[in-house]
Amino acid sequence: MKEIARIQFRGEDTDLAAYWNKVHPEMPIRYGIVVLPYASAIYDELRQTFTRFAAHTPVEWSERITVEYTPTEIRACEILELVIIGYAGDGGNTYAPVYREVVTCPSCKITEYQQVQDLFLNTSNFESIPDSHQRRRCDWYETRFGEVVVSQRLHDLFKSKGIPGVVFRPIRDYAKRGGELSAVFQLVVEAEIGPFIEPTRLEREGYCAECNQYRSILRAELRGSKGSELYLPRSNFHGQPIMRTSERLGRRPLASTTLIVSQNLYRLMRVESLRGFRVQPAHLVDTTAS
Ligand SMILES: [Zn+2]
Repeated sequence: MKEIARIQFRGEDTDLAAYWNKVHPEMPIRYGIVVLPYASAIYDELRQTFTRFAAHTPVEWSERITVEYTPTEIRACEILELVIIGYAGDGGNTYAPVYREVVTCPSCKITEYQQVQDLFLNTSNFESIPDSHQRRRCDWYETRFGEVVVSQRLHDLFKSKGIPGVVFRPIRDYAKRGGELSAVFQLVVEAEIGPFIEPTRLEREGYCAECNQYRSILRAELRGSKGSELYLPRSNFHGQPIMRTSERLGRRPLASTTLIVSQNLYRLMRVESLRGFRVQPAHLVDTTAS
């Protein structure tokens, strides 16, 4: 596991950057940002250089530490969190009344979006890599609303392997007055695993004893950061290739699906060169009463 620091300087970083880039042209500060291995000699040197400059220049240091896993670390995991990279634009009720907001608990008035018709999307907003304007080259996409959109290739692969616990729904084309879009589907994962258990780092708020739900469950650390890995009960796992977490991350009613895949499904997707996703380790924990 490698820890990478992405450091952003705010304020007057011109002198600092000019000095640093002369000494370390191999790891320059560009547009106020530098990316370095965390807790390394060069990281310490930048920290010291910054402290010297910050003594007489108004400049601030903010950093985010992300984690890079080795293939061996990924292979050692029984389950993995699927991180979808392809972007399918706005979803939800943007182009049609796809969801109805329903109060699911009379006590706390918590609401949920229930899907009442096929999803409508605008494919001109699809991006294989966010902000790249590459279109429709992925097998995995996610909308801003959190719907999962997959390619024909993925659909055919899952069908041919008999992957259980999933439903493929047609998607309607906003630009063609709701005609069916070809070659993409909404993937609804029905198999579940959960709840999140210790030591998953979460911030839970608004508990209701009546429905046993939280109004908001957020990760304490951004996905990809150290400390963002999910822990789930082993008693729920019976080799299902793909599951969604039974608790949803986010603020109700906008709480989106977090997908967990088995090591076997991950390997299959790698062998078949599916695109538009990466994974991070998730963990199964024995919860038998002691
Ligand atoms: Zn409630």
